[in-house]
Amino acid sequence: MMIKAIQAKEKKMFDEIDTSHLFTDMFNQNFVEHLKEKNDERDKSWWAPEKDTYHVTDITGCLRKSFLKKKVNIELDESSLKNFEIGHRVEDIAAKALEKMYDNVENDYRITKEFNGYKIKGETDPILKVNNKILDMFEIKSTSYISSVKDKPKSHHLRQVNAYMGLLGLHSCKIIYIDKKNYSDLAHHIPFDKDMFRDFKNKAEWLHTCFKNEKIPAAKPMENWECKWCDVRDICDAIKKNGEDEILQNIKKECISTP
Ligand code: SF4
Repeated sequence: MMIKAIQAKEKKMFDEIDTSHLFTDMFNQNFVEHLKEKNDERDKSWWAPEKDTYHVTDITGCLRKSFLKKKVNIELDESSLKNFEIGHRVEDIAAKALEKMYDNVENDYRITKEFNGYKIKGETDPILKVNNKILDMFEIKSTSYISSVKDKPKSHHLRQVNAYMGLLGLHSCKIIYIDKKNYSDLAHHIPFDKDMFRDFKNKAEWLHTCFKNEKIPAAKPMENWECKWCDVRDICDAIKKNGEDEILQNIKKECISTP
């Protein structure tokens, strides 16, 4: 009660707010802060770095990026926070639609599998479960250009769903794309690709070997855009310039979250 009264007191009267750019700045600041709080509320223990444990998404992209991100504490930037939130909203709406179609839909289904000395964790979008058996999996993706995925899904989405299918023992799944601008949608049926899952397991093994031997994996983006949006690009560039030994020493000094 007391806290609410104090918060209410701190809020501005409407006529105190300048209607020009000040409002825009103030709104943006509060909007981003709210997104950060929402992101912090998500289950941190599941996502927190753990020794010898890798998430599916650590393995499907550039391994150097995953290695470096686990070594330094990277906060999500403003545009990633916004994209993340939009993705979650769209996924929740799609999960509700699937619940209308089927009984036993479970969203954010978590898998943990033990491999040779390490674990892989993954969190899928909705799955369809009957008598404790998973029958189908739906990966929901929001997109700005649904026409770009009309003929086939994006390759990093295929790598991701094949990893989940391999871990869950599924023979197929569906990727549902939803356009962020107008909520138009389309779905692709994806058969399991065992070669893609084999590559995934090889990459996981290699990432684990790199951590064990404190070696930085090679710079190997899986797609052209990966370096453009990479949040450890500065460190990666410094490694290319100065070699890995010096960078590894600096990372060790700053290391916050070594798995
Ligand atoms: S900049 Fe490119 S190569 Fe370097 S870590 Fe990032 S994704 Fe990998």
